[in-house]
Amino acid sequence: MKQKKIVLNEDQMPTHYYNIVADMPNKPLPPLNPETMDPIGPEALSGIFPMELIQQEVTTERYVEIPEEVRDIYRKWRPTPMYRAYELEKALDTPAKIYYKYEGVSPSGSHKPNTAVAQAYYNKQAGIKKITTETGAGQWGSALSFACSQFGMECEVYMVGLSYHHKPYRKIMMNTYGADVYASPSNRTNAGRKVLAENPDSPGSLGIAISEAIEMATKDEKTNYALGSVLNHVLMHQTIIGEESIKQMEIAGDMPDVIVGPFGGGSNFAGISFPFIRKNITEGTNIRCIASEPSSCPKLTRGQFRYDFGDTAGTTPLLPMYTLGHEFIPAPVHAGGLRYHGAGVVVSQLLKDKLIEAAAHDQVEAFEAGVLFAKTEGILPAPETNHAIATAIREANRCKEEGKSETILIHLCGHGYFDLKAYEDFHAGKLTRHEITEEEIKASLDKLNIPELV
Ligand SMILES: *Cc1c(COP(=O)(O)O)cnc(C)c1O
Repeated sequence: MKQKKIVLNEDQMPTHYYNIVADMPNKPLPPLNPETMDPIGPEALSGIFPMELIQQEVTTERYVEIPEEVRDIYRKWRPTPMYRAYELEKALDTPAKIYYKYEGVSPSGSHKPNTAVAQAYYNKQAGIKKITTETGAGQWGSALSFACSQFGMECEVYMVGLSYHHKPYRKIMMNTYGADVYASPSNRTNAGRKVLAENPDSPGSLGIAISEAIEMATKDEKTNYALGSVLNHVLMHQTIIGEESIKQMEIAGDMPDVIVGPFGGGSNFAGISFPFIRKNITEGTNIRCIASEPSSCPKLTRGQFRYDFGDTAGTTPLLPMYTLGHEFIPAPVHAGGLRYHGAGVVVSQLLKDKLIEAAAHDQVEAFEAGVLFAKTEGILPAPETNHAIATAIREANRCKEEGKSETILIHLCGHGYFDLKAYEDFHAGKLTRHEITEEEIKASLDKLNIPELV
């Protein structure tokens, strides 16, 4: 009998997060104060994050224990299943073996509750009553709304305007968990009002929504801010995915040659890949980890490694990362969660050091891949996830050409059951390929009034 899914018992769930910083050959460069260009310490974050998360942001410990209360909530859906994609392999007629790790079984339908629950827990411990945040496609907002409801906390979400209007069901879901949701740019903040004054029809962006949420958290002592991606502690919370995956691959008697995950700010990609990169660094394995981004927002494949702001309004410290320029507003493609101008500092350093790779696909290629996946494996993937499936198909086709039976692990980090409008547009032939030119990228980077220090 061919085993289709590999499941772990609850008592096999990992007890620690993995911090890749401990094993990185080149440590991440420090954040800088934009006024003085001096490195800034973690205390700069203390107005909006609890101390425990600030410590996790800068720790060099290899492992951080997952609190018992957090593990208790994780057990509602973790450990998550891994599947062998026999039907997809057959449709591609490839000698490659394809597996996928499925995070869509979480309450909000993606990997995001892994960090949302941890962040809500540490904020609750610190006496915080309300958490503000931004959300793109709505995945992060729903994850944090769920997490806050578990701890009896308030949640205020700034949702990128385009998604707010295209994805009413995500908003209803957040409201159901008890959160307040506002379309961004909104009239509630200085950052929002400034954008609206310049462009009343602004579709919004993650950068703008981040500025709004941070502004609200700065104003009130009992209110903190939470970010769903990019930061070191967020990436670290997601590594439980990769730790489970290693156990599952061992049970399958296999080990991946290639791992693919979609890339917005880096959290799901970090989650599945970092524990395998640890194997590469400490055991000398050669597992290729490929981050998949949309060709309309290609910071990893065509951006520059340099210091830039994390948000559009330029209120964060300067961070060393791959970026298209913080004022870059990507085309309104359906993968809302991948429309971010930059990338996490840790993943950026890993890419610079060639410990990870990147690939880009336009949204038509991504949806073609997602539809083939749905027809063969049955699950409708999130639009973001479709980009990783497109990379996996590219790799499986390469295996066919080269006659190699490599093992490919896809991070199926979310389902697309709230994203059916995107599938409707795809079926109606309304999706465009949105290639951007070198001139557009150069123009956005030229706008940066920040010295190139790296
Ligand atoms: C949020 C999200 C992403 C992008 O964010 P990362 O931090 O890069 O993971 C990708 N896929 C899904 C399903 C998401 O919800």
